[in-house]
Amino acid sequence: MAEKRDYYEVLGVAKSASDKDLKNAFRSLARKYHPDRSTEDDAENMFKEIQEAYAVLSDSQKRAQYDRFGHQGAGGNPFGGSGAGGFNINLEDLFGGDIFSSMFGGGRQRSNKRRGNDILVRHTIDMEMVLNGSSEEIELDLPCPCQSCEGTGAEDGDTTQCSPCGGQGRMRVRQQMGPFVQDVVKECRDCAGVGEIAKSRCQDCRGSGRDTQTETIRFDVPLGVENGTRMRMRGKGEPAPRGKGSPGDLFVELEVQEHPWFERQNSDLIMSLPVGFTDLMLGNTIKLPHIDGDDLVVKIPSNSSAGHTITIRKRGLPSSRGGGRGEVVVLLKLHVPKKLDKATKKALEQLRKVLSPKDIEARIRKDAEDRRTN
Ligand SMILES: [Zn+2]
Ligand SMILES: [Zn+2]
Repeated sequence: MAEKRDYYEVLGVAKSASDKDLKNAFRSLARKYHPDRSTEDDAENMFKEIQEAYAVLSDSQKRAQYDRFGHQGAGGNPFGGSGAGGFNINLEDLFGGDIFSSMFGGGRQRSNKRRGNDILVRHTIDMEMVLNGSSEEIELDLPCPCQSCEGTGAEDGDTTQCSPCGGQGRMRVRQQMGPFVQDVVKECRDCAGVGEIAKSRCQDCRGSGRDTQTETIRFDVPLGVENGTRMRMRGKGEPAPRGKGSPGDLFVELEVQEHPWFERQNSDLIMSLPVGFTDLMLGNTIKLPHIDGDDLVVKIPSNSSAGHTITIRKRGLPSSRGGGRGEVVVLLKLHVPKKLDKATKKALEQLRKVLSPKDIEARIRKDAEDRRTN
């Protein structure tokens, strides 16, 4: 790194400058060099330098230390471990809301401090887990910053200003959009929007700044969770491009496996149950194993019809909003055997006389005649 300039020199003020002088100097310089508006060469670095100088000199304690010991006194990085760019100046305070918004336009997006991409993984759970909840543990190969270069992709972390974008991280490109030609600002490809590139590539990650590591992710499946619910694990996503900025988030999308006989409707479970004609006629009680471990007792009343439903309360799934379990709704379906042996056939022939609706053909015929004569 080049010799650090004196902070007073950077802001162009005397050593005796008052707080107000400092503020005024910083304001006009920040306006001049703000990378989003400045046409100056090297505005980005100038802006950083100005920010750094102001951050130190506007803090009376840090200023006193700097006055006594110079850059050494202020420490290599006076702003904590967050590296370059970790300045804690509230620009909004300094400029007022209006100037802030016009000056910073796109807000955070335009800053060279980037955020890594989010990662989405799917995780399948079964209906029992929706019912009982579950503590899950999954192993994932997740991207992480390369240790050798701290994610910068540069040998020894040594970077230099990106020349295609002049360190801006963004480039103005002329784009044909239908009949119009438009200037759009795009992220610089060479530096992935960071504004800096490696002097030479890190050997270990071949310049990508990335590595992968196997991580165990633990989370609880909430009771009554809906299919497609996403659980967010902050900071477990992709690392920021070139190690500058914060990592993205990891989302685990819960996919509830389809159940062989239950269909879910919110907290209710719907199932269709094939029953025989005699079950409908005479009624029956059928016990079925249920996902809660206790048998589900389905009481079919006599004289039921196919298509009737039987509701069993509080045996469905817990509601994700709390408030107890839903219902199991059993839809009765008539099961018609495909093949009958001779004896059964004979028995059914006997029953036909009894069970078939009486005179139905004659009644319909009469109805039709009545209509014709009216
Ligand atoms: Zn660039
Ligand atoms: Zn590396």
